Amino acid sequence: MSVAEPLITLEKVSRAYASGENTVYALRELDITIARGEMVAIIGASGSGKSTLMNILGCLDRPTSGSYRIAGREMNSLDPDELAALRREHFGFIFQRYHLLGELTAADNAEVPAVYAGLSPAARRRKAIGLLERLGMGGRTEHRPGQLSGGQQQRVSIARALVNDPDVILADEPTGALDSRSGEEVLRILDEISATGRTVIIVTHDASVARRARRIIELQDGRILSDRPNPERVGAALARTSEATAQETASGSWRALFDRFREAARMALLAMNAHRLRAFLTMLGIIIGVASVVCVLALGLGSQERVLENINSLGTNTLEVFPGKDFGDTRSGKIRTLVLSDARVLAQETYVDAISPTVSTTSTLRFGAIEVSAQVSGVSEDYFRVKGTKLAAGSFFDHDTVRSYAQDAVIDDNARKALFPDPDADPLGRVILIGKVPCRVVGVTKQQQGGFGSSANPTVYLPYSTVEARFLGNQILRSISLRIAETTPMDAAERAVTALLTARHTTKDFFILNTDDIRQTIQSTAQVLTLLVAAIAVISLLVGGIGVMNIMLVSVSERVGEIGVRMAVGARRSDILMQFLIEAVLICLLGGSLGIAAALLFGTVFNAFDVGFRLIYSPLAMVGAAVSSMAIGIGFGYMPARNASRLDPATALARE
Ligand code: ADP
Ligand code: MG
Repeated sequence: MSVAEPLITLEKVSRAYASGENTVYALRELDITIARGEMVAIIGASGSGKSTLMNILGCLDRPTSGSYRIAGREMNSLDPDELAALRREHFGFIFQRYHLLGELTAADNAEVPAVYAGLSPAARRRKAIGLLERLGMGGRTEHRPGQLSGGQQQRVSIARALVNDPDVILADEPTGALDSRSGEEVLRILDEISATGRTVIIVTHDASVARRARRIIELQDGRILSDRPNPERVGAALARTSEATAQETASGSWRALFDRFREAARMALLAMNAHRLRAFLTMLGIIIGVASVVCVLALGLGSQERVLENINSLGTNTLEVFPGKDFGDTRSGKIRTLVLSDARVLAQETYVDAISPTVSTTSTLRFGAIEVSAQVSGVSEDYFRVKGTKLAAGSFFDHDTVRSYAQDAVIDDNARKALFPDPDADPLGRVILIGKVPCRVVGVTKQQQGGFGSSANPTVYLPYSTVEARFLGNQILRSISLRIAETTPMDAAERAVTALLTARHTTKDFFILNTDDIRQTIQSTAQVLTLLVAAIAVISLLVGGIGVMNIMLVSVSERVGEIGVRMAVGARRSDILMQFLIEAVLICLLGGSLGIAAALLFGTVFNAFDVGFRLIYSPLAMVGAAVSSMAIGIGFGYMPARNASRLDPATALARE
């Protein structure tokens, strides 16, 4: 390291700004060399180009033409991240308005550049505290900028400038916002920094500040008006003392990356905490979206389960044979081929576990003064087994009842309620009139759980023989109900029944209802419906995502200054991207979790009311909701975060 090699070399450096039609030259062909250890003041009237020069020196901005070399390295060709690396390694910035991050403590603020440099947490803490102590801030390391005076804040920012052991300190009007005593203090510190051999470059319009430097460069309209040693502060530039030791960088780049990730997450949390209400309102979209998706799926599952229960209450493994081609076949009333002997033949088949013919009519039930119209079903003793019907009281009729044309009736719950309104009344043994036929009540069935075939219509079951003889006068059946043996597949049984009956009737003038088929149809219908409603809920989730994007854009534009500071102290584009992306993802994840919690709460309330079915939450839906809210955070947070990371550091800083 020879003294002959200057640290900073500017050759014919110009910086032009496009301003409407014409270009404004902020700097015109500057030639400046600055050696290590110099203390230089740059002075000039407002608008003379001081800040522009400062930004170029600090690698925050690039010259439009000319060459800028730092320690012999040309910086014109470097990409933004390489420039960030230069800023981290070589420069410490001190700003007029301190530019501290308001949510961080003094020590945390001083640590920021070391985070981006990859210093281990313990090492950077030690360093920041040490610097703050040396700057007389030892008792205030945990204060936030708002709790510190201007002079104290500027000392924190000096500690931040020094934490990465930079070669060059760039100070833009460092005393501009301070009273004279604090200003004097800051200048004394800059003197001391210079005495350790660091290069100090101060931009000022204050002549008394400039007099502290050993060399004064005066600018006017972007040109050098004068460049002279300060006669009041003669003395050679000091060689850098041995203090500049090797940095204790974090071991391993993965560890450093994780460290930066953690810092970004911490900053995101701090930023959310600073705008709690706004963060919550932003989350609300996600909360509502996730809650509705989870609830809709739970409702779908719950109602589907309920419907399946109803189908099962119709009887499992059952086939029902009806005359006609299909439901609603208008000619089915004229088809007189489905008869009792069909049922008798079917009963011989090995795959038939139980079978019952059904004949039916409507009639009026009378008991005392009460009169209701009811469905009269003539069935065999096996009917209740086929259908899985349960009794609330009494018994079903048996084979003898059927054979003897007995006038025994089993009434359903609706009929019981209608005929015997007094809940304490015992219907068993009572004789009711069905049409003109008196029948004895022998059993009462349990209430059917909603679903198919259940209605408010009273139904009374009589032996089919009785109904045929007393009501219909023929042997034509309304249907045949079969319970298929467990060992036989339903499809095979259906085919066998079809073949047998077709042979007997010589034509297929009947159709078969298979509860398995119904179950499958309902299941798939319910699934389609659930998906449909869930899709609508997903749209609300998307709307929530757009809300997040909106707020993130606002957040980025609000924090342009912060982004500028971070970039100045060496944050990479990826660091900025990560910070804002994490914020978006955290908002969405938190919103998602709250949404799931809201859905569970809704379910608890819903299940407390008896609406006939319960919400069933699938863990998969919840995991899916969490994952998709994270995806929404990434998807909708990416654009704002990318905008933030693409900001130009000089422009961002200027907007503070
Ligand atoms: P100083 O810091 O000495 O007051 P600046 O370096 O800020 O001066 O500005 C020098 C000149 O460059 C001024 O004429 C200013 O109008 C112009 N300038 C600075 N920044 C921009 C910009 N971003 N766009 C257009 N012109 C600019
Ligand atoms: Mg300026």
